[in-house]
Amino acid sequence: MLKGKVALITGSTSGIGLATAHVLAGEGVNLILHGLLDPEEGDKLAQHFSVQYKINAIFDDADLRNPLAIQQFIDRAQFELGTIDILINNAGIQHTEQTASFPLNKWNDIIAINLSAAFHTIQKSLPGMQVNQWGRIINIASVHGLVGSKNKSAYCAAKHGIVGLTKVVALECAEQGITVNAICPGWVDTPLINKQISDIAARDNVELAQAKYNLVTAKQPQPEMMEPKQIGEFILFLCSDSARSITGASLPMDGAWTAQ
Ligand code: NAD
Repeated sequence: MLKGKVALITGSTSGIGLATAHVLAGEGVNLILHGLLDPEEGDKLAQHFSVQYKINAIFDDADLRNPLAIQQFIDRAQFELGTIDILINNAGIQHTEQTASFPLNKWNDIIAINLSAAFHTIQKSLPGMQVNQWGRIINIASVHGLVGSKNKSAYCAAKHGIVGLTKVVALECAEQGITVNAICPGWVDTPLINKQISDIAARDNVELAQAKYNLVTAKQPQPEMMEPKQIGEFILFLCSDSARSITGASLPMDGAWTAQ
């Protein structure tokens, strides 16, 4: 059903975005891959996808801290592959530190990458979806879009912000065949959380595996991390026709974290 559609996935050189790219490519979706990868490596990645899945795939390394770079990125993507049918705002970074000493540059980067970039990509992608009267926008938020945690002021502010943005765009597009949702994952096994694990290992003088277990079980009742592919499969469902009435939702996928 999705064969031949075009998906743009920010931050798809790693973790959740890369796993999602494999899931969608497996359905014949053409891809705009993106992330902070050496352009030569990125082009190789896109070529690998093209050959493996017999799709069109391109790579772009636009820095999401730069609104002009984002605009040029979306223009290029639409010029080369056509209307963006599926937009997945996934790229994100993390920095943990108490608010009193949180560095301003980290605050600015997290708000730019985890929140403002989604505003820019949505604004540039919506007109094409509106012409086609079909679109899927999926924002990767976090449980931290629904609840707070100490030392994550910028991350929680950005993720709560993206939950709000999701609701507004869903309302605006409700009669246009476009659904807009946020997924709110708990712990997912990706490089994003490596520093948090190594910080715990150093602080508690324990092995990395034990530190990982301690990190997960501190707040999440299900004691294991999700695999990135699980998020990709959920995204695939949200792109399906069966999910056409799910819009404006912030969907936890969090091992019961926010059930408490
Ligand atoms: P990851 O570190 O594996 O991937 C992050 C991606 O973002 C990479 O492709 C990277 O190149 C890209 N990126 C980072 N800074 C960028 C910039 N300035 N410009 C362009 N691209 C940039 O992380 P992940 O865990 O796969 O995270 C994906 C999303 O999932 C993020 O929004 C994250 O907040 C969210 N999330 C992750 C978890 C988790 O436990 N891993 C939990 C909840 C939500």
